[in-house]
Amino acid sequence: EYKRRKEMFRAHDLAAKFYHHILMNTEAGLPGIAYLESRGITKTMIETFQLGYAPDAWDVLARFLKKRGFAEDLLVEAGLLSQSEKYKGRCYDKFRHRVMFPIHDGQGQVIGFGGRILSKGEPKYLNSPETPLFSKGRNLYNLHRARPMMRQEERVILLEGYMDVIMAYQHGISNTVAALGTALTSEQVRLLQRNVQEIVMMYDGDAAGQKAALRSSEVIREIGASVKARVATIPDGLDPDEFLRKYGKDAFVRVVLDNSSSMTAFRVHSLRKEFNLGTQTGKEDYIKEVIHKLLVHVTSPIELETLLRELSEEFGYPKETMEQELALAKKSP
Ligand code: ATP
Ligand code: MN
Ligand code: MN
Ligand code: MN
Repeated sequence: EYKRRKEMFRAHDLAAKFYHHILMNTEAGLPGIAYLESRGITKTMIETFQLGYAPDAWDVLARFLKKRGFAEDLLVEAGLLSQSEKYKGRCYDKFRHRVMFPIHDGQGQVIGFGGRILSKGEPKYLNSPETPLFSKGRNLYNLHRARPMMRQEERVILLEGYMDVIMAYQHGISNTVAALGTALTSEQVRLLQRNVQEIVMMYDGDAAGQKAALRSSEVIREIGASVKARVATIPDGLDPDEFLRKYGKDAFVRVVLDNSSSMTAFRVHSLRKEFNLGTQTGKEDYIKEVIHKLLVHVTSPIELETLLRELSEEFGYPKETMEQELALAKKSP
C-alpha cells in the first residue's frame, strides 16, 4: 500500500546516506576506502554513485533506522534486515562487511543495494531480494543517471556489473547501464527502447559473458524490439572494467564502435560452436541452420547481403544457391 512503500523509499534513502557516511567519514569505513582505492575508483565516483560501506557488525543499520521510528517488519520486508532462522524474531543487518552500491529506480530513488565482499568469498555480490520496491528484472543499474546521455547519443551500452559501469563513467562514458548478473528481460529491453535507437551489448569477455550476450540477443529478437542491437566483444577474456584500466578510453570506444558486430552476425558466429566445420556434413548443416534460423529474420537488405556474401565466400557456395535456400526457408519456416 502507498504509505508503506513511501516508508520503504525513505528507509532506503537513509540507509544509502548512512552507508556513505560510514565510508567517507568514519574509521569503520577505512577497509571500504582501501578496497575502492585498490580498484582504482576515484573519490569523485564514490560521491557520484553514492557508494558506501556496511561495517563488520550485526545491527548498526537496524539500530540507526529503528531510532528513526522504522518498524522492524517493514525493514525486513524492504530487504534491509534479515530475520534470524535460529532465534525466531531476531533481526540483523542484511549487509555486513561489504562495499555498498545503491541501486536506483528510473526516477533516481534508491530501491535496493548490491554489496561486494572485500576479499574472496561467497557470494561475491549480495543483492537486495525482490521487494515491493525492487524487482531485478524491471530495473537497470544506472538508468536514471545514464538517460540524458543515452538520449543524446541515441545509444546505450549494456554492461554486466557495477564496477564496469562506474569505471566507464570515470572515463567519461556515461551512457552505460548494467543488468546485474541476470539475462536481459523483455521489460528491460522496453525501458531501453524508450530512450535509444541502439543497444550495444558489451558483456565480459569470458565464456559466461558470451553466453549471456547470446541469451540477451535472443530476448531482444523474441520481443521483436525495434531497436538496433549490436554485440561488442572484449578481447582476452577481460571485462569492461579491466579493459578500461588496462587500455584506456580510446581503445574502449574503438571496441564499441568498430569491433562490434550486428546481433545477427554475432549469432551466426556463435552457432559455429555447435557444428563440426571440419566435415562436409557439418558445413552443410551449419549453413542451413544459419539460413533457416537466423537469416530468415533479417529485415535489412544491406545486412542480409553482407551476411550472405560472407557465408558464400567462406564456404565456397555461389550466392545464388544461398539465396535459393533462403527463399525455401521463407516459404516453409
Ligand atoms: P568484480 O569486478 O567486482 O569482481 P564483476 O562485476 O566483474 O565483479 P561478475 O562476476 O562479472 O562480477 O558479475 C557481474 C555482475 O553480476 C556483478 O556486478 C553483480 O551485479 C552480479 N553478480 C555477480 N556475482 C553475483 C552473486 N554471487 N550473486 C548475485 N549477483 C552477482
Ligand atoms: Mn563475469
Ligand atoms: Mn565481470
Ligand atoms: Mn570485474
